[in-house]
Amino acid sequence: MTTIFLDRDGVINENRSDYVKSWQEFRFLTGSREAIAKLTRAGYRIIVCTNQAVIARGYIASDTVDDIHRRMIASIAEVGGVIEHVYYCPHGKDEQCACRKPRPGMLLRARDELGVDLHDALFIGDSITDVRAGIAAGVRSILVLSGLGVDQFRNHYHEAEEPFRIMLNLEHAANCIVRGLRTQVGGQNTLESVCYAMLATTKQPDLLSRLHEWAMSPEVSQV
Ligand SMILES: [Mg+2]
Ligand SMILES: [Zn+2]
Repeated sequence: MTTIFLDRDGVINENRSDYVKSWQEFRFLTGSREAIAKLTRAGYRIIVCTNQAVIARGYIASDTVDDIHRRMIASIAEVGGVIEHVYYCPHGKDEQCACRKPRPGMLLRARDELGVDLHDALFIGDSITDVRAGIAAGVRSILVLSGLGVDQFRNHYHEAEEPFRIMLNLEHAANCIVRGLRTQVGGQNTLESVCYAMLATTKQPDLLSRLHEWAMSPEVSQV
């Protein structure tokens, strides 16, 4: 069974520059719960892998993070989505742990603890560190343009050691995956062509922000 690894902030819920510190600060992105339900119905295993340096910084305890995840899972279950497990890295940038993305530790744990076949898996994230963690674990990676995705693509795309796919947001990615437009690297779809063309025209910030708005917009649910 194919496994879909999901980053959390910027993919399932809104990023906050000051971290999500409570359930009250947790805001689902439009369509993300339904996208997860769609993947569940189509038979995919879904596992979340998220960096939560908010714990290392002492802003919140791991109990609070656990509570946020319990509520997140319950809310997604209400629409029919199943999150099998949430892995999070509680460490800070300087701790040199094995789990903080771009390192692949959380994916390797899923392989060892849950029997995930990493050759039959995808990683969906809004940061190049997500893409890189997937690549490091031998998992195909998809960058979404919700959350930090547009800025990440513009400023960090070259840090990925191997090619990756680009999708608008989790809704778009789920639709592509379920329709069987699987994610082999090679060739570019229209969105990817636009993104790479944008790199050459950095004088047009409007184009970039419009793409970001598109990725975050409710109408995208219909894509
Ligand atoms: Mg993220
Ligand atoms: Zn860690």
